[in-house]
Amino acid sequence: MNMKESNNTNDVILIGAGIMSATLGTFLKKLEPSWQIKIFERMDRVTAESSEAWNNAGTGHSAFCELNYTPEMEDGSINIDKAVKIAASFEVSKEFWSTLVQEGIIEDPTNTLRRIPHMSFVWGDENTEYLRKRYEALKKHHLFSDMEFSNNYDEIAQWMPLIMEGRDRNEKLAATCMDIGTDVNFGALSRSMFSYLENADGVELKLHHEVEDIKRLDNGDWQLEIKNLDTGKTDTYTTKFVFIGAGGGSLPLLEKSDIPEGRGYGGFPISGKWLVCNKPDLIEQHCAKVYGKASVGSPPMSVPHLDTRVIDGKKALLFGPYAGFSTKFLKHGSYMDLPQSIKWNNIWPLISAGVHNIPLTKYLIEQVTQSPEDRLEALSEYMPTAKMEDWELMDAGQRVQVIKKDEKEGGILEFGTEVVYAKDGSLATLLGASPGASTSVSIMLDLMKKCFPGLEATEKWQKELKRLIPSYGQSLAKDAALAKATRERTTELLHLREVAFS
Ligand SMILES: Cc1cc2nc3c(=O)[nH]c(=O)nc-3n(C[C@H](O)[C@H](O)[C@H](O)COP(=O)(O)OP(=O)(O)OC[C@H]3O[C@@H](n4cnc5c(N)ncnc54)[C@H](O)[C@@H]3O)c2cc1C
Repeated sequence: MNMKESNNTNDVILIGAGIMSATLGTFLKKLEPSWQIKIFERMDRVTAESSEAWNNAGTGHSAFCELNYTPEMEDGSINIDKAVKIAASFEVSKEFWSTLVQEGIIEDPTNTLRRIPHMSFVWGDENTEYLRKRYEALKKHHLFSDMEFSNNYDEIAQWMPLIMEGRDRNEKLAATCMDIGTDVNFGALSRSMFSYLENADGVELKLHHEVEDIKRLDNGDWQLEIKNLDTGKTDTYTTKFVFIGAGGGSLPLLEKSDIPEGRGYGGFPISGKWLVCNKPDLIEQHCAKVYGKASVGSPPMSVPHLDTRVIDGKKALLFGPYAGFSTKFLKHGSYMDLPQSIKWNNIWPLISAGVHNIPLTKYLIEQVTQSPEDRLEALSEYMPTAKMEDWELMDAGQRVQVIKKDEKEGGILEFGTEVVYAKDGSLATLLGASPGASTSVSIMLDLMKKCFPGLEATEKWQKELKRLIPSYGQSLAKDAALAKATRERTTELLHLREVAFS
């Protein structure tokens, strides 16, 4: 490609205005105030894709209620490693957000985070036994020591009345409750950070600007071709470091950068839908996020949940997500996204992953062809008294699951988040979506360590990182006293003392 003369030089370019770029931009501006940072977003507003409140489930993922983070092993034991990692990571996120409250960057934390209990709910012999074992394994760890378990009908009915109404008293049921769960408006949170960034010296946020190409220059810098969608004019910008935080749009940009580390990656889009309750007295009766168990073949992030949400100060009740399939990589993307992402270097991993995930394909076909009656049936498993006229169907955000090369299988489908780095750390791309926004702070701390190792080790960065995240460099998973003190600080600063609407 014939690259034009660059008219803009920068220290950092962030592609995409979602929570990931917001978090990284805020960190970098705090750590290196003199850096020139540009943020490019193809939409005419920030957080228009997955980070927007109605596009995600708003669960502050702490592994309190999500059963897919605690797999049962072949010997019947429960592996809690992933749960502990995610719980500790969410505490770190809360630490950073608490500092943003102290600094006035988040003006009103109640617009952003609310305390909503996290519960798991299962039925049947096998599942109730699994939940009991999970509870016993987690309860021993300090991050989960407040967890409660019950298989008593009346107690569960107090925790989740809507779910128990109309249910047979003799049904075998079990539930757990973590009172300190959270609902997070990731859109509001990101907007607070973008508004700080927009007002900071040396930062420019350019909306309605689409990154079309990324090329490496001979001196190691990166040159980006960016189209102004208002004027149709394309300009070039250079930068020492680029973060591709384009959500579903990250994979095509990684492919354009042509870094060897990015070859062999593919993406599998999974869309989602919610049922949103329109009946105020039902909304009032529920105050929890209640997660169930995934059915066979279903992707872990499509585990159904009945959730209290707080969006723009208003209480809401959502059920879902119902998974679906679309070839778009972004909610506001193109149906050509998936076909255009297929290259010689990822076609085999894509085919192999498809062959090894037949139950998932079958599950998605079933989900796409669901009638309103099928959706009501799924909701009725959680809420036996549900009526269709009390609920409206709404589109959720789009996720692109990572497919990558695997020596044994040819290609594997992953449900987590993965950051792909250029060898010298001058480019980083975030792929995948789970546990996503909740762990954005830890993801960005790892990213900065890998991309700016020389700076991260300096006294200046260490001091500032410890100011932003008091537990930085220590382990909340291992140090119970530190975890307790950290929770006390964040509970106070984020106004999480009381359960919302209690
Ligand atoms: C249905 C669903 C439920 C979820 N539930 C939860 C949950 O409960 N808890 C949780 O923690 N996480 C959840 N997630 C995941 C979470 O939403 C994401 O991890 C997070 O929002 C990703 O943020 P991001 O900044 O990477 O991407 P996004 O918020 O998608 O932002 C990417 C931005 O890049 C822009 N862009 C794309 N291409 C270009 C380009 N070429 N040029 C310029 N701009 C571009 C897009 O327009 C977009 O604004 C959920 C996601 C979905 C879809």
